[in-house]
Amino acid sequence: MSIPDEHKLVEARDFKYCPWCASPLENRLLDGKMRPACTACEYIWYKNPIPAAGAIIVSDNRLLLVKRKYPPGVGDWCIPAGFMEYDESAVKCCIREVKEETGLDIKIEKLFWNYKGGDDPRSVVVLILYLATVVDGNLKPGDDAMETGYFDLENLPSNIAFSAHRKAIKDLKIYLQTGSLPYRDD
Ligand SMILES: [Zn+2]
Repeated sequence: MSIPDEHKLVEARDFKYCPWCASPLENRLLDGKMRPACTACEYIWYKNPIPAAGAIIVSDNRLLLVKRKYPPGVGDWCIPAGFMEYDESAVKCCIREVKEETGLDIKIEKLFWNYKGGDDPRSVVVLILYLATVVDGNLKPGDDAMETGYFDLENLPSNIAFSAHRKAIKDLKIYLQTGSLPYRDD
């Protein structure tokens, strides 16, 4: 299957050569899984999901969403969130991403839940979500958002990007109605 040009940069790529010593990798059965391992040095590619963090911000029964400017999911809406930097905590990542995408300064109230994202072409993702409130700033789209705004929870856009975000929104509605979250392991 050919990949459209604008999506090429976001397709997952597998290493063919060792990122340490540039020798070819070979598949080896390690801990019950086939893992690419270096034919020259001790490097083994343990492929891990990428952590991302984001904020659920609800005001007057309306949820803050951002419209995606870049692939994947251009033009789709999602909860403000993004990938963690290597030296960043999840909380700091969440606060930074919301500021970059919406212009808002937030206060983290509590951990909401975490979700496995399996439909982002770049990688499997662990999405860590917090409940947060706005403390300062002016709502304006920035960074990788083309639009941002609050949406009535009963009248959300139909095009929500990523299964992890859709699961979280489904859980949020239950949480707001009942005060508790359904148990999830996905
Ligand atoms: Zn190597």
